[in-house]
Amino acid sequence: MAVSFVTKAGPIVEAQAPSRDMDPRIDAAVAVARRHADAVDVEARFPREAFEELRAQKLLGLLLPVEAGGEAARVSDVAQICYALGRVCSSTAMIYAMHQANIACIVQHADATPKFSSYLRRIGQEQMLVASSTTEGNNGANVRMSESAIQSNAKGISLSRDSSVLSYGADADAIVSTARRAPESIGTDQVLVLFFREQYNLTEGASWDALGMRGTCSAGFRLEARGEAEQVLTTPYERIHRHAMMPVTHLLWAACWAGIAAGAVERAQGFVRKISRLAKGALPPGAPLATQASLSLMTLVNMVGAALADYKRRAASKSGLDEIAFQTSLNLLKVGASELAIETVMRALGAAGISGYRNDSEFSIGRLLRDVLSSSVMINNNRILANTAAASLLGGVPEQI
Ligand SMILES: Cc1cc2nc3c(=O)[nH]c(=O)nc-3n(C[C@H](O)[C@H](O)[C@H](O)COP(=O)(O)OP(=O)(O)OC[C@H]3O[C@@H](n4cnc5c(N)ncnc54)[C@H](O)[C@@H]3O)c2cc1C
Repeated sequence: MAVSFVTKAGPIVEAQAPSRDMDPRIDAAVAVARRHADAVDVEARFPREAFEELRAQKLLGLLLPVEAGGEAARVSDVAQICYALGRVCSSTAMIYAMHQANIACIVQHADATPKFSSYLRRIGQEQMLVASSTTEGNNGANVRMSESAIQSNAKGISLSRDSSVLSYGADADAIVSTARRAPESIGTDQVLVLFFREQYNLTEGASWDALGMRGTCSAGFRLEARGEAEQVLTTPYERIHRHAMMPVTHLLWAACWAGIAAGAVERAQGFVRKISRLAKGALPPGAPLATQASLSLMTLVNMVGAALADYKRRAASKSGLDEIAFQTSLNLLKVGASELAIETVMRALGAAGISGYRNDSEFSIGRLLRDVLSSSVMINNNRILANTAAASLLGGVPEQI
């Protein structure tokens, strides 16, 4: 069956959508995610129904090559799904985004060996859900620095790691982790390693009782893993980070946050419509805020759409991904998308007033606001702004629009 990534929820950018046909698989997953979104949040539990559906619809392995059971889909296709899921269940969308970013890293940097090809086939055939461990100990979001190291001996490799924030660790089928290349390596000499469920033990440490994104179940774990030497990708993590982990993660996270913002705008618009019907056409005082929410959503959607198009163009000629201007813009996309998404949800809350503030109203914005606030914390915006300060100064301003 030909795949179309346009859903009832609509594309992020119309011009990027390959077709206007509905993809019933995506709509089916969105419907299930919507049905369970409140329970996932209240119970802070993994959105298992949505992931059963995503797995049944074979939407977990989309980015894998066809020979590995995937559909060789594009990152922009996956972004549409993140957006569609984000409109109904932030946790489902964010888990899906993190999983797909992990898949993108291992597909784009897969070693051309029979062993690694068999790993990819397994991921595709079993429609595995892949988690990632980059946050370690008290190192915060310093992704480009690892404490734990790969240990090697004649039997294979092992890794012992304090994964202090590991989303859906307990429900994942595999984990990709950063690590120092070897015990004698410095912290920034990192590799990316893939482990399958039966190869690791997770001992839960910090629990996950958070303000929002409660269904991501981002608890802390002690990870003890053993595997084959071939499970360590030979491409240095530094390159994987620049070409796949950072750009794809930021694009897909931004698509999720745009989805959450769209969900909030839909609620605000629904509220304004209802009040104006009751008032025989008179718009409530909050109506201009709903318009402002639509405006900031439009700006956000255009920002994500432009970044997706830029990534697609540069990914076609891999060298374009290394340009400082691109790296800076994708880092700043994370900050910009996060700020705009929060602003949009806040405006939607203003428009819906007490109906948005209540948890028990059909126009409630509460869960969406709590969820979207995670965007500034998840690799802290301050950290990114500080890290990109020098490059931003050097870049000056655009010569033209
Ligand atoms: C919903 C969610 C899911 C997550 N899932 C995962 C996962 O699956 N796997 C994983 O590995 N991690 C995960 N994380 C963790 C995430 O990737 C970050 O590592 C984590 O959010 C960092 O938290 P921190 O507060 O320690 O950040 P830090 O970046 O250390 O920030 C801490 C504080 O220091 C400040 N700060 C830090 N650096 C600077 C700087 N250079 N300049 C100025 N101020 C600075 C920040 O403003 C902030 O106030 C998740 C986080 C969230 C919120």
